Amino acid sequence: MSTTRHNWTQEEILEIYNKPMMELLYEAATVHRQHHDPNTVQVSTLLSIKTGGCPEDCGYCPQAARYHTDLENNDLMSVQQVKAQALRAKASGSSRVCMGAAWRNVKDGQEFDDVLEMVRTINKLDMEVCCTLGMITENQAQRLAEAGLYAYNHNLDSSEEYYKEVISTRGFEDRLETIANVRKTNVTVCSGGIIGMGEKVEDRAGMLVALATLDPQPESVPINALVAVEGTPLEEQQTIPIWDMIRMVATTRIVMPQTQVRLSAGRTEMSQEGQTMCFFAGANSIFAGDKLLTTPNPDVHQDMELFKLLGVTPQKPFVKKAQPETVEASDSQYQALGEKPKWSRPGHSIERNEKARLKKN
Ligand code: SF4
Repeated sequence: MSTTRHNWTQEEILEIYNKPMMELLYEAATVHRQHHDPNTVQVSTLLSIKTGGCPEDCGYCPQAARYHTDLENNDLMSVQQVKAQALRAKASGSSRVCMGAAWRNVKDGQEFDDVLEMVRTINKLDMEVCCTLGMITENQAQRLAEAGLYAYNHNLDSSEEYYKEVISTRGFEDRLETIANVRKTNVTVCSGGIIGMGEKVEDRAGMLVALATLDPQPESVPINALVAVEGTPLEEQQTIPIWDMIRMVATTRIVMPQTQVRLSAGRTEMSQEGQTMCFFAGANSIFAGDKLLTTPNPDVHQDMELFKLLGVTPQKPFVKKAQPETVEASDSQYQALGEKPKWSRPGHSIERNEKARLKKN
C-alpha cells in the first residue's frame, strides 16, 4: 500500500506528471484502489449564497466587481432559501452542500451569523456542509466548527510563483494562513486549484508541492479546468486538452493518496469518456447541479446517467469522517470578536487584470 509523504519535491512531481500515459494511469489507478472504493464517487452541490460584487481581482473570476461581465449580483440568500436548495440537492443524490460567498474575508456580524445558521440547518439534514467564504481567522473557524461545518474550501489556485500573475489583492501566504486557521479546528480542509490559466507545467507541479507538503494533506483537492468567461482577464485562454486534466488528476492521486480528488469546473467541456478517464485516474468527487457558482456545469441527470453506465454509486455522507455535532448559537463557547486582521494586499500591477478592468462592455 502506498504511504502518504509530506516531502514531495517539484522534480519528483514533474517526473510523475510526465510519465508515459499508460504508466501514469496504471500507477494512479493502483494507488486509488488501495485507498478508495473505485466504484464510488462523492457528489457535492455548490451553492452561490452571495454572488458578485467581490473586491478581489482574481483574473479567472466573473464575480470580481472590477471586471465587466454579464453576471447578476445577488445579496446573501436567506436560511430558508438555502434549506430548500439543500433538500433538493439531497433528493438528487448529493451528500455535501458547499456554500460560496463572494467575499474577500469573513466579517463578524449579521451576515456571518446567518451563514452559521445555514451551517446548523444543513448539518441537521445529515448532509456534509462546506463553506468557501474567503479568508477567516481562527475564531471564525472555531465558530463554523461549532455550528457543524464539515469542510472549509480555500483554494491555492496555482503555484506561489504564478499566483502573482493572477491575483494582486492578496498574497499566497494569506491562503496558507486561512488553511492553518481551519486546521486548528476539527473542520476538514478542501484546497486545490485551476489549470489552464496560462501557467507552465512546473506551476501545476508547484501547486501540488504546496498542497502535498501540508501535514495533514487536505482531505479534498478540487482540480478545476479554467472556464474562460468573457470580460475577465483570462477570457482569451484556450480550453486545455483533456489529457492535461487526466495527467493532473492522476498526479494528484499519486501524491495525495487519501484525499478526495474533486473533478470541478470545466466538466461541460469534457466528454463522458474524458470524465471516465479522470475517474479511472483517481478522481472520486464531482460537483453536481447546472451551475458551478456562476459558470455552467453538467445537469445532475446527465451525471446520474453516466454513473449508471459506469456502475458507479454516489458516496454516502460522513463515510470518511464522523458527522460533527451542531452547537446552537445560544450555547456557543465562541463569540464574535470583531477582529480586523491585516490580510496582505500586495497591490502589484497585473497587466491583463488592468486591461480587463479598464475595458468597457
Ligand atoms: S475567486 Fe472569490 S475572492 Fe476571487 S474575485 Fe472571485 S469571488 Fe472574489
